Formats: sequence, C-alpha cells, structure tokens
Amino acid sequence: MGSIKRHIKISAVLAALLFLLPVSNAWSQNNTVKSPKLILQVTVDQLRGDMPGSVYDQLGKGGFRYLYEKGIVYENAHHRHANTETVVGHATLATGADPADHGMIGNIWFDKELNRVVYNIEDDRYPMLGEGGGVDKSAELDPTQKLAGTDGRSPAAILSTTFSDELALRTNGKAKVFGVSVKDRGAVTMAGHAGKAFWFSKSKGEFVTSTYYYDAYPQWVSEWNRKKVPLTYAGTNWDLMHDKSKYTYGDFDDMPYETNLPGYGVVFPHPFGKADGKLFTTLLTCSPAGDELCLKFAQELVVREDLGKDDVTDYLSISFSSTDYVGHIFGPSSLESEDNLLHLDKTLSELFAFIDKHVGLKNTLIVLSADHGAAAVPDQLNEFGIDAQYFVPDKLDKEKAIENIKSKYGIAEELISGFNHPYIYLNNEIIRKHKLDVNEVSRAIAEELVKFKGVAYAVPSIDLVEGKIPDTRLYQQILRNFNPKRSGDIYLVLEPHWFVNDFDGLTVASTHGSPWRYDTFVPIIFAGNGLAAKTIFREVQTVDIALTLSKYLKIKAPSGATGSPLTEVLNQ
Ligand SMILES: [Zn+2]
Repeated sequence: MGSIKRHIKISAVLAALLFLLPVSNAWSQNNTVKSPKLILQVTVDQLRGDMPGSVYDQLGKGGFRYLYEKGIVYENAHHRHANTETVVGHATLATGADPADHGMIGNIWFDKELNRVVYNIEDDRYPMLGEGGGVDKSAELDPTQKLAGTDGRSPAAILSTTFSDELALRTNGKAKVFGVSVKDRGAVTMAGHAGKAFWFSKSKGEFVTSTYYYDAYPQWVSEWNRKKVPLTYAGTNWDLMHDKSKYTYGDFDDMPYETNLPGYGVVFPHPFGKADGKLFTTLLTCSPAGDELCLKFAQELVVREDLGKDDVTDYLSISFSSTDYVGHIFGPSSLESEDNLLHLDKTLSELFAFIDKHVGLKNTLIVLSADHGAAAVPDQLNEFGIDAQYFVPDKLDKEKAIENIKSKYGIAEELISGFNHPYIYLNNEIIRKHKLDVNEVSRAIAEELVKFKGVAYAVPSIDLVEGKIPDTRLYQQILRNFNPKRSGDIYLVLEPHWFVNDFDGLTVASTHGSPWRYDTFVPIIFAGNGLAAKTIFREVQTVDIALTLSKYLKIKAPSGATGSPLTEVLNQ
C-alpha cells in the first residue's frame, strides 16, 4: 500500500513538474529579454499616425527611419477616449488609464469646489521655482495655460500612478525618472508623481520646474540656463531645409488661413526677431527651434544625472511640442508643417545618436507615440468638396431653442453657464432654485443641441451614469472620458472637421480635440534593446503602452492601467 501511495505521489509530482515545464521555459525565455538601462519615451505633440510617412522620401538617416526600419511599428494605433487634447493624451500614455480614471479629462475643466475653471496641472501649493515667478503671462498661443490662477504646477490632479511611478516604487527610488518638454503638461504628466519634471518658461526663456520637485535648482540646470542657449537664435530665421521644389506644399506657402503672428509672417523665411522682442521665445516654440532646445536640455540631463549608467533601469520622457504649435498656426498640411517634420526628424536622429553614444541603443528601450492627431484646415477640405466649418459656442444660452426650454421651465437667468471644451456646464444653482430635476433639464437641452448645425452628438452625462448609451465606438469614447467630479453635464461632439476656432480671441488654422479618427490616430513604435523589426496592422490603443512597459520590466501596472500588453514587444 505504502509503495503504491508513494508511486502515486511521485507520479503526481512528476506530472506537476511536466505541467510546469512549459511555464518555466517561458519564464527563462522571457528572462532572456535583457532589462534596458534606460527607457526613453518620446512623445510628439500632434503627430498624426500618417504624418511621418507623408515625408518619408525626404527623411534623413537615424531619426524616423531608424524607428520605422528597425522597430516594432503599430500602423493602426489610436487613442480610445473622446477628448483628444494634450494633457488627456499625455496622461493616457503615462498611466495606461482612460481619462475617466486618470482624471485628466481636458486641458481645462470647471472645478465644482473652487467654483472656477482650472488648468489641468495648476497647483498653488507649489509655485515655479526661482526668481521671476508669478503667473506665466507669456503663455501666448497656449490660452488654456493662461486660465491657470497660479504658476504653480504639480501632478497632484493625476489620479492614477504612471509607469514611471511604478518604476520608482519597484526600485525603491533607485531608478532615475525625468520628464522634459517645452510644455509644462508634456513634462509633468510623464514624470508622474515620483519623478522630476522640467519645462520651458516663455517669460524667462529658461527651463524651469516647481517647488513640488525641488527646493533649489540642480547646479547643472542653473549652469545650462546661464548659457542662454535660446539667445543663439536671436536675429536668425526658420529657413527651409531643402529647396522649395522638393516639398508637396512648396507652392502653397502663402495661404489665407495661416495665422500671421507679428513679425513672423506666413511665408519663409520666418524671422525670430531680436532677443528682447515680446514674442521672441514664443516664436522659438512655434518653429523647430523649440524641439532643438528641448533636445539640448535633455542631453545635458542625461550626462549630468548619469542616466543609464548602472543596472537599475532609468526613465526619460521627452515630449516635443513644435509639431503642435506649427500645426495650429499654419495647419498640419502646410509647407511649415512639412519642413518642421524634417527638422524634427533631424532632432530625433541627433537624440538617438546621442543616446547610442552615452547609453547604447542596444541597452535602451525606445517608445514613440503622440498625444493626439490633427484635423485638416477647413478651407483645404472645402477645396476637395468636404464640408468643414467653424462652430461658435459663445451664445448657446441665447439660441432660440434654448430660450424656449428656459421659458418652459420659467427660467429667466443664464442656464448654460459655460462651454469648456468639450463639456457644457449647466447652472445647477438656478436649476435647484427653480426646484427642477437637473437630469431632465440636461436631457432636454441635449435634445435641442443635437439639432444645431455642426453638432453630431450631445450626450448628457446622466445617460453615461445610468448606462443608457448604445455600445458604439463613439459613445464608448465619451464614456472613457467621463469623470463624475470633473466632467460637465453634456458632452458636445461636432461633425467631423468642424471645430471651435476662437481661443481667447486668437484664431488658428487648425486644431484637434475631436473623437474622430484623424484626431485619435497616432504612431506607436517600440525600438532598441534588441527588438527585431516588425510592422503590425492590427488595431492597438495608446492605453496598451504603459501596460506593455510594465510587463516588459515585470513590474506592477499603474493603478488605473487598462488595455492589453503588446505581445510583439514582449515575445521577442
Ligand atoms: Zn497636444
């Protein structure tokens, strides 16, 4: 009996071992993926997925070509939320969460406790570090930033951990984690709660941070700022890289819809003007120079902070903002945007060559994506018979259909208290005062709004809460954008190619922010650290990135992360 029992026991152990064998094999196979010394997350602001391909023949070596020819390229990657704005996309890339969970539902939102509109990462507890603080009034061409009541910044409003946070946690703070960008929100989101962020102050012409991150500037930052690198652009121009005849838009430089910034003009060459010019630093950011400055600062950071030098994986995020500013001012299909992409390609090529020298591309896992895509300029679309127009949301409350609802309910006061893209906020105080049901009122208003010219959908938030939405791509995008504390009462979706074109008095050539495919479409490319080239056409989503990085390093996922790990990156 005893021997039979033992036999059964041994068989069971053997069977268990045999059963385990493929698992342990998989472990050892996976373990052959060498942990990178550095994770380099590159984000290009407003890089629609097709844009690098549109200039592919003119690209140099080592930049986009390195990524597209040596990397794992996802050709059908999308953001899966509705509000394709900068902070929303960056926070999604950083956390792998939807805006509903990471909380960055828009560049601005109405804060119900403060009773005012707030800018996503503003935080008056942590003012800008150093002399000359105060509100950064130089935020020309960044009207959302102007709404901030303070120059203080922190990641406190980001409600999920980021991949970079999880890396810091896993290594008990040994991993060095940095985020750099011209835009504050491009740096703060990616650095997470545990990392350090630096961004470019247009009023100071320097890279700055806030007291959330440091009590005093690291010596190397002060030294770099003292070099006054931006001043080297004074009196120079943004010039075309090649002869005009080489460009698709070579004969379309002077277009009526381009924004004519004083002194900068709408045709090449674009002069930056004198160093003391009011718009000097703003103009640098509206040209390839903004990305070049960002690169130079990041290079200094890599050297002085010794990134990628030991066995602990470090993290560096660089978010390049020029493509966004140039796209807004001149349109994403313009001679300026075309040339900017070629300059960006050169900047990327310099970045990768630099990383190869200091860390080694074989030791660096690169991931490149974008915070959102871009819409074409309405005038250009009209030329091709495609309807595209501007929508003016200023006087919605005074529209006849809305006035009719108000008189039905006996309301004389303002009922629609604000439109902070993409949400309509109702005057809840008035609704309460008249003892009305806010849900009934918001449904009644949405029903009228959807009849307005240019409006495709007007979705009351209560329908999301009560699960009364159809299971379509677009409604799901809106649901993933919904955070009950921050979202407004009605989500307004305009028809494709329609957009609001009045940013605090400034009109631009083009913008983004819609749930349509041109705004959700971005590149996702992984390269370096021994990855083999591959092109994938399956649809993947930007929420997959943070989860994939977590699985790659075998660390826990960010707290709000969703999506699916990208197996092509993991099964090498
Ligand atoms: Zn953006």
